[in-house]
Amino acid sequence: MRSVPSLLSMLDHPAAPPPAPLPAPVMPWDYIRMRRLAAGLSIEQAARPFWHRPEHQADVERNMRAIEAVGFRVKRLWDMSRSFRLNLTVYRQLCDSPPEQHPRLCRACGWDEWSSQLDVEGFDCTWSAADPEICTLCEQARRPKFRPRPANTQPHHHTGGAAQRAA
Ligand SMILES: [Zn+2]
Repeated sequence: MRSVPSLLSMLDHPAAPPPAPLPAPVMPWDYIRMRRLAAGLSIEQAARPFWHRPEHQADVERNMRAIEAVGFRVKRLWDMSRSFRLNLTVYRQLCDSPPEQHPRLCRACGWDEWSSQLDVEGFDCTWSAADPEICTLCEQARRPKFRPRPANTQPHHHTGGAAQRAA
């Protein structure tokens, strides 16, 4: 009966190998960072559409950095669509609900199934069959023969459904 260790027996014997770690939940600040990086933008690049006078640059960049700081939740996140695509409803859920109720997200790019995103082949993104933790865009991007297309150059069908929903 001892061949299958229970959680309790593991806790009783700290020398036993720990159970496989659960993937860490994606928190609101992780989500913003994932979406920014998926768009291939630095903080400075992501901030650029939001300032027009040089004296505002530092403030805007500080704000962009702040929303990615661990533990930071924004009550009313501004519309990011000028810079990168983000689902504000998902962001709200990540802020307001416990991790076990968080929406499922691609763990590589932060895509959610309510947002339209095209994969490398130009099809609607869905969950990878090979690795359900990621989306088909990220799965294809891992294959050496594909290069991910920058998010802001997506062609044809889907005229920014997610951006409109997020706005
Ligand atoms: Zn992805």
